[in-house]
Amino acid sequence: MNIAIEIIYLIASIFFIFGIKKLGSPKTARKGNLYSSIGMLLAIVVTLSDQHVLTFEWIIIGGVIGSLIGAVLALKIKMTGMPQMVGLLNGFGGGASLFVALSEFYKISPIIPINTGIAIILSLLIGSITFTGSLIAFGKLQGIVTGKVVKYPLQHPFNLLLFILVIGAGVYLLMNPGNVTLVLIITFVSLVLGVLLVLSIGGADMPVAISLLNSYSGIAASTTGFILENNVLIIAGALVGASGIILTLIMCRGMNRSLMNVVLGGWADAGSSDGVSTDQGPKCDVKSVDAEELAMILEVASSVIIVPGYGMAVAQAQHAVRELMLALEAKGINVRFAIHPVAGRMPGHMNVLLAEANVDYEKLFALEDINNDFANTDVVIVIGANDVVNPAARHDKSSPIYGMPILNVDYAKTVVINKRSMNPGYAGIDNELFFGDNSLMFFGDAKDAMGKLTSEIKNL
Ligand code: NDP
Repeated sequence: MNIAIEIIYLIASIFFIFGIKKLGSPKTARKGNLYSSIGMLLAIVVTLSDQHVLTFEWIIIGGVIGSLIGAVLALKIKMTGMPQMVGLLNGFGGGASLFVALSEFYKISPIIPINTGIAIILSLLIGSITFTGSLIAFGKLQGIVTGKVVKYPLQHPFNLLLFILVIGAGVYLLMNPGNVTLVLIITFVSLVLGVLLVLSIGGADMPVAISLLNSYSGIAASTTGFILENNVLIIAGALVGASGIILTLIMCRGMNRSLMNVVLGGWADAGSSDGVSTDQGPKCDVKSVDAEELAMILEVASSVIIVPGYGMAVAQAQHAVRELMLALEAKGINVRFAIHPVAGRMPGHMNVLLAEANVDYEKLFALEDINNDFANTDVVIVIGANDVVNPAARHDKSSPIYGMPILNVDYAKTVVINKRSMNPGYAGIDNELFFGDNSLMFFGDAKDAMGKLTSEIKNL
């Protein structure tokens, strides 16, 4: 029976690996989700058929409540709320590892083999940090907790001290395996550490923090797998941990941050990123155009790059953007899309929306593949993007986004920026792009504005 279980666990793990491989491209992502779900279903069914399960009562109650909450969340949460949702789910993963480690400690204490003891300590540490850290990340993205960098004196030494305290208590616990106080100290200090590490990260850098916490939740699950001696949990956790770290590295590169800084927490002063935008004064300092004028400018263009951002997601303008693309192409204009790695509010946000609107993947170009082409482009249309096209990131050392690679849209012959007002984006800072000699503001809700522009182009 045990061999059969291990073999099915292995098959489930193979499904996970192929699932992750398929998630690597938008074309195959749906299949990837399906493969991973099949793997998870196999793992759950086989785990439940294990003879160690004494009663199904609580499992069924937990499963039903969890599934109901999950279904309601999945149906209710809007695409723009996805990062918070992911943050919260990471937290639940960490919390689950924490509780399993605690219950296993109470179950086998005071005779705890050293390897299980180490796994329990790691699970408590990483699970707790993930749990409270993710709740703070959720709060920051939701606007409940300040999006600003929270700094206090001797921040890093204090965090280090807490970490050393956990390790010290852990070593002492290995020598005195039944000591409940030590377990509570490890848990409490780790929970505090999670709060402090994420509290000190600015809202604008939250995408990196979220993907790192995602990786932590996987590592916590993997250590829990060692406690329970459950191979599929070890493998699944390791896969989440490793892919989360890879994503974190990609995001770090996208935002020009070092991984060490993210791990230690709090490295830059982000502006007001709590989602509250403040009006940046009158629109009269900038040149603005209406749909008709813009259509005439586009009529003589031969190349156009569209840069989507968070505003396209808010307006749900992806279908209108596709219509615009088709109208421009019908006039013989070459249209491409430039996708910044942190555009929107979650990794791949723009790719998902444009895929939903059936825009060809081949037309989507990553920052590094298109950034040199802006200088040879006639018109760039920025749709609801702000921070990812802010030239301050290139030269203003005092800017919270300084050093983040941006899409060099200001190098194009003409840049048209569509947004509703002069309000700032997520980082809460001004954007000098709007005032450039070659810049034209096209004010309005993205869906509405793109609709008007498309009909003007068709009427030409
Ligand atoms: P920004 O948040 O910088 O700017 C979005 C702009 O969209 C706003 O200035 C807003 O201006 C405009 N907008 C809002 N609603 C509409 C609408 N209905 N129609 C037209 N425009 C609209 O977005 P970017 O995509 O440029 O940058 C992403 C930012 O989010 C970065 O700072 C990134 O660090 C951060 N972030 C990214 C995450 C990720 O994983 N991708 C996760 C969390 C944060 P106005 O109000 O005037 O219309």
